[in-house]
Amino acid sequence: MEPGSLTVTGRCPILGLSAVDRQGGGDDRIGTPATYPAYMALWEAGELASRARRAAEGMVACTMCPRACRRNRLAGEAGECGVGRHALVSSFGPHHGEERVLRGTHGSGTVFFGGCNLRCVFCQNYTISHWRQGLALDARRLAGVFLSVQRAGCHNVNLVTPSHVVPQILEALVEGIPRGLRLPLVYNSSGYDALPALRLLDGVVDIYMPDLKFSDPESAARYTEAPRYWTVARTALREMHRQVGPLRVEDGLARRGVLIRHLVMPGGVAGTRRVLEFIARDLSPDSWVNLMAQYRPALRAWDYPEIARPITEAEYRKAVAEAERLGIHRGVPFDEPS
Ligand code: SF4
Repeated sequence: MEPGSLTVTGRCPILGLSAVDRQGGGDDRIGTPATYPAYMALWEAGELASRARRAAEGMVACTMCPRACRRNRLAGEAGECGVGRHALVSSFGPHHGEERVLRGTHGSGTVFFGGCNLRCVFCQNYTISHWRQGLALDARRLAGVFLSVQRAGCHNVNLVTPSHVVPQILEALVEGIPRGLRLPLVYNSSGYDALPALRLLDGVVDIYMPDLKFSDPESAARYTEAPRYWTVARTALREMHRQVGPLRVEDGLARRGVLIRHLVMPGGVAGTRRVLEFIARDLSPDSWVNLMAQYRPALRAWDYPEIARPITEAEYRKAVAEAERLGIHRGVPFDEPS
């Protein structure tokens, strides 16, 4: 569907809210929390619009993500991520399955972006990431999606798989703030993020939530389209940590900082020990870490016998023991139930 022909952009699966934004704006501040999101300071300084412009210029020969495939997305050409000028949105709405510090009482306002620059063979969201299910939304309509989750009372806008749509997110903020957008942003990525894109987000994102997937280059080459994953992701996490530091939680809610996810995989193929060593030694043992146990084979994982099964309890316990040995003490399951 062409963006211009869109009349209904999506429907909140829980509240049944329509994502159609109000034509011509209006005040959407109902339910706005007391949090003052980081991007407001940039907005008031007049810097946010220039960031959005610079990011859009970066799409002429796109280097917005580490693939740097140099397609002209401003002219509508799709990159290796599968996405052209406008972001694809697959679904959005309050999500109550995220970490407690994100979902709070009213849910985290997830916005699932179609397309992906990593494309893991075991992706559980493959209909969105690989098959790119979703509608192309221009900045005004994407701002409408952000405002919709704000109206639903969510605690944050949780940008799921955002690495290839950083310019579109910045443009949507510029559209949404005058209409009352005030929710903090959660940047929920695979960690395969380009440094220039992250620098554009400095002072924009309150909470970075990278999923640090592999420390083993052979695994990254075998299971993703990013053989340089470990090098790129470490640089990205250092930058995220430099910008916002370890996660700060107030009144049970994540306010600012880095929340790191790591999916424990069968047979140790994720290189969990090195991932945890990096977190504890290069970032901080005070990092908030969610060690995830929910790996299930999906998509093409069945073609790889070593990952064609869930993890065992012993594999998960070993990962937790390794983290504790390194002094990691915050997150799931360290001081938080899942
Ligand atoms: S964001 Fe997409 S178009 Fe841009 S460099 Fe990455 S893969 Fe290529």
